[in-house]
Amino acid sequence: MLRRTKILATLGPATDKPGVLEELIKAGVDVVRMNFSHGSAQDHIDRANMIREISQKVGRRVGILGDLQGPKIRIARFKDTKVNLNEGQDFALDINLDPLVGDNTQVGITYEPLALEVVPGSRLLLDDGRIVLDVVKVENMRVNCKVVVGGDLSNNKGINLLGGGLSAAALTEKDMEDIKTIAKINCDYVAVSFPRCAEDLNLARRLLLAEGCQAGIVAKVERAEAIVPEMMDEIILASDAVMVARGDLGVEIGDANLPAVQKLLINRARELNRIAITATQMMESMIDNAIPTRAEVFDVANAVYDGTDAIMLSAETASGKYPVKAVEAMDRICMEAEKQRVVRISDHRMNIEFERDDEAIAMSAMYMANHTKIKGIVALTESGSTPLWMSRISSGIPIFALSSSEETLGRVTLFRGVFPIYHKIDETHDHAEVNRAIVSELRKWNLAKNGDKFIITKGDLTGVKGGTNALKVIVVGQGLTP
Ligand code: PGA
Ligand code: MN
Repeated sequence: MLRRTKILATLGPATDKPGVLEELIKAGVDVVRMNFSHGSAQDHIDRANMIREISQKVGRRVGILGDLQGPKIRIARFKDTKVNLNEGQDFALDINLDPLVGDNTQVGITYEPLALEVVPGSRLLLDDGRIVLDVVKVENMRVNCKVVVGGDLSNNKGINLLGGGLSAAALTEKDMEDIKTIAKINCDYVAVSFPRCAEDLNLARRLLLAEGCQAGIVAKVERAEAIVPEMMDEIILASDAVMVARGDLGVEIGDANLPAVQKLLINRARELNRIAITATQMMESMIDNAIPTRAEVFDVANAVYDGTDAIMLSAETASGKYPVKAVEAMDRICMEAEKQRVVRISDHRMNIEFERDDEAIAMSAMYMANHTKIKGIVALTESGSTPLWMSRISSGIPIFALSSSEETLGRVTLFRGVFPIYHKIDETHDHAEVNRAIVSELRKWNLAKNGDKFIITKGDLTGVKGGTNALKVIVVGQGLTP
């Protein structure tokens, strides 16, 4: 059985160790995330080259996602690296303070307008909510606070405003520079951090296109503003994939609201024919331990039941002690979860009218696959639309995306239940010949044997995008198929 849910693993010092990346890919990583919050442009270029080399060697396509840092608001630094704050004491954030001299009473910040965007009573969450400050008074760009929850606070920790509302634009100057590196690397996806609206995503897309890069856009949903109903749809529609960025989002909206939002976002993304990624702390304890907690096992399985396309590992693979074991654990949990009936049946889109013939063919293929004995579906695709539509329907039947477009093959690495295979059709309009070539391709990868029934969707073999107009059923070894 092939695993349908895709595993997205973040690269970092732990995966730079000799041999780890190859083991990670062999363990089943489908897409890697390069975190542009850390490392130089050259570091990312070197990693991308390494990924492509290994992927070639192992014979499995691995997608690359470049994740922009975005306007993460941070405190500056302390004289002595860290301080301890006590509940009830005063503590100030000050844009005019030398960024290197923070102490137990005050620290610098990296975000100029903070003092203009908070009022007495605003609650600030530092270090993913471990430290809580209430704003008491704002004077001369200095934000005076009272410590509500204290503890250790060290250099450069993040700041979130409870309820959201900080106005920072999603793309910083650094992000615009990094977009050039991402285009050079030719990433399959680019993640925009903290988008507020569709325009933040459109701008990223325009900048990438200007650099000649057609990467898919991932909207990281991590601001409270991004999940109000009208804005959620706008953001989903402006992107190719959405990430439930549970880390920052949880800080802004409160952890208890996350499970419902995760389900809602995944559902809505699928309804709008977009991809969903579930991210952050899925295997957190595996940063230090060789096995996950029971709660983490349930979290991964529940994300699969929720219909996510991909699940993400962050520090678990980037800097944890057991990167390969974390991937193996995700793999085995997904495989079991995917056996459950709820993820293999679908009444999705039963009551709507399809606007396009190619979309209707994709839906027909899924209906047939889910209700007859089919080994697999083969979508001959130029643009990747057919496998995208197909993968929005819950099913246990694998969808093989056969394409000669490198961009399309890279794109489908994130689609649930879709497996990329490079396949070029010879200059022919003879459908029997094309079917034979498809069967040979499947046999080559050990995906087909005599008697297996496959559905093939394709167009008139003219290489035009959006031309799928036929659904063909073949039985391997029978009739005209070898
Ligand atoms: P990050 O985004 O890991 O880049 O912060 C994910 C999240 O906030 O959950
Ligand atoms: Mn984040």
